Amino acid sequence: MIDWGTVFSKNPEKRKYLLEILPTENYNIKVLSCMIIKESPRYGETDLLAEVQLDACSPDAVENFISSFEEKSFTTLNTHVSDRFFENGIRTVLSGTRVCHHNVKSTGSSPPKQENKDTNCPSQCSFKLKPCKKAGTCKCLCFKIKNCHNHVVDGGDSLKWHNLSKETKDICFCFS
Ligand SMILES: [Zn+2]
Repeated sequence: MIDWGTVFSKNPEKRKYLLEILPTENYNIKVLSCMIIKESPRYGETDLLAEVQLDACSPDAVENFISSFEEKSFTTLNTHVSDRFFENGIRTVLSGTRVCHHNVKSTGSSPPKQENKDTNCPSQCSFKLKPCKKAGTCKCLCFKIKNCHNHVVDGGDSLKWHNLSKETKDICFCFS
């Protein structure tokens, strides 16, 4: 379920761009804002900034949501900076950022193969998980999306990277 509020109430046809990348099944989502920067007819390639709130109320649920987001948007997101857990978080339990896997952090030891993959893509998502007050009805997760891929996301060159799970694992290992 998705609550758009007044977002795109005047031009609801633009909602499709966010729906291309946002997993809406199994979630109650409220769209706080969505700004289209550059429209593209290609799936998932419209540049946009969006902020949503949804009912993922635990760190595990956040991970699941991010996986769904990756699946829906045909992207792979990596952690560049470790997530922050807040001890006895009163306002925030967990926060973090994920960047597109076409933005490879230079470690000096990256295998040469990864240089082809690195387009320095500016796409990223950041999130803040608030303490859950009422499971089932709350929207604890605040999720910000910056979708501006500078490469194709729906096939060909880009998709081949999705199959190289070993490489992806190597990257995860580097930043864990
Ligand atoms: Zn990208």
